[in-house]
Amino acid sequence: MEPPISREELQEMARAAGFSRVGVAGVDLATDEARLLQWLARGHHGRMHYMERHGTRRSRPAELIPGTARVISLAMDYWPADAAPAEPVLADPRLGYVSRYALGRDYHKVLRQALASLADAIAARVPHSYRVFVDSGPVLEKPLARNAGLGWIGKHTNLIGSDAGSYFFLGEILTDLPLPVDEPATAHCGSCSACMPACPTQAIIAPFELDARRCISYLTIELRESIPVEFRAAIGNRIYGCDDCQLVCPWNKFARAAAHPDFRVRQEMDAPRLVELAGWSREDFESRFEGSAIRRIGHEAFIRNVVVALGNGPPDEAALAVLRQRCSDDSAIIAEHARWALDRLQFRAS
Ligand code: SF4
Ligand code: SF4
Repeated sequence: MEPPISREELQEMARAAGFSRVGVAGVDLATDEARLLQWLARGHHGRMHYMERHGTRRSRPAELIPGTARVISLAMDYWPADAAPAEPVLADPRLGYVSRYALGRDYHKVLRQALASLADAIAARVPHSYRVFVDSGPVLEKPLARNAGLGWIGKHTNLIGSDAGSYFFLGEILTDLPLPVDEPATAHCGSCSACMPACPTQAIIAPFELDARRCISYLTIELRESIPVEFRAAIGNRIYGCDDCQLVCPWNKFARAAAHPDFRVRQEMDAPRLVELAGWSREDFESRFEGSAIRRIGHEAFIRNVVVALGNGPPDEAALAVLRQRCSDDSAIIAEHARWALDRLQFRAS
């Protein structure tokens, strides 16, 4: 039977909407569902309680959106070619490091628009019933992308494409169209395990197994409370997310620079000075991060992260002064982290 849309047509439409790669998967995720339930049972998701919501609908797209026959999985590259190189920023304790995916416009907005425009273009060609999802939705995006042939899940648990590395966002269109499915991608980590010892907090507790409670992305973005003291020194100068496991991955020599202009660096957040960020008021934060994913964590968590990074840096006068001020912050969380940081710097200076 003739497919409603050919693979070539779908690729062309996906490229026109701004995606670099597209694949189609069926809706069976039984093996991944078992892994998800095991991960949740071990508590490795920490305070990400939303992972427990929706029950098995998260791993069963046809239960989440009745009538779903296929998942169109899409990748959009985000590596900002105009950003300062990552390694020198990570090595300079006076600067803050922001995960390279968050330097441009909020990707949720960019991807949702692109997904909606692609889904509409498909509907104009063949009527279909659909819903679009970007990573915050309750779908298992990495297993679906693997099944759609976009890449394999590496030992660090990110998706890797053999011709694209891992610096890309994923989005999905759940559709009732009976499109032909792609071959799932095969795994190519082989004997490499470079990402595991590279993790500053040993969050990759076994190949393909992440204890999110130890991961700096979780600690600096998902966790809104006090950061456990045992991880604060290892966080270094990472103030929003972490890329270390991807930076060492040999497959990222094939990573592609973002084509979308919205992923260009904003507000010079590719190499910001920590002492300046630490002085930002709530209003500064809101206005500087208008349209950025960083705004989602709020001023309190952001300043908390910045003062931790200052506590891992040199005890110069500017750092000591801003930390003293933050010790009497209205936010108990900021004040407590600032005291921790100040104690460290004063000890180092003595
Ligand atoms: S993002 Fe950073 S902290 Fe998290 S697993 Fe990778 S290297 Fe470890
Ligand atoms: S660093 Fe090596 S083990 Fe880790 S994801 Fe990349 S290829 Fe796989």
